[in-house]
Amino acid sequence: MTDKKKRIEPDASWKEIPMAGIIPNAGSAQEFKTGDWRVRKPIHDEDKCIHCLRCWVYCPDVSILVEDGKVVGIDYDHCKGCGICAKVCPEKVQAITMVSQSEE
Ligand code: SF4
Ligand code: SF4
Repeated sequence: MTDKKKRIEPDASWKEIPMAGIIPNAGSAQEFKTGDWRVRKPIHDEDKCIHCLRCWVYCPDVSILVEDGKVVGIDYDHCKGCGICAKVCPEKVQAITMVSQSEE
């Protein structure tokens, strides 16, 4: 492994991050809690949800948790609060509401 391919640990200082923010280890996002800088978060209402899975298809961070074809929750460790899931949820259903990170 060359220096350029050196593994970057989650607690690395800025001095250890490669020039130009190059990502030397592809597919490493699962190891980082990338949702910790989120300012808004989606709240899923399972009573309203019709499990059409549009939110699962469109979520850019693979943060809609699905089991047996049904939405069972949201992976807040990786959700970045973009709100796409709430936008694509059918208008008549609106099973996802975006709230401020500090709200429940
Ligand atoms: S807010 Fe964005 S990142 Fe979070 S679950 Fe919805 S679509 Fe995915
Ligand atoms: S888009 Fe809305 S109704 Fe469809 S699965 Fe997601 S939360 Fe449920």
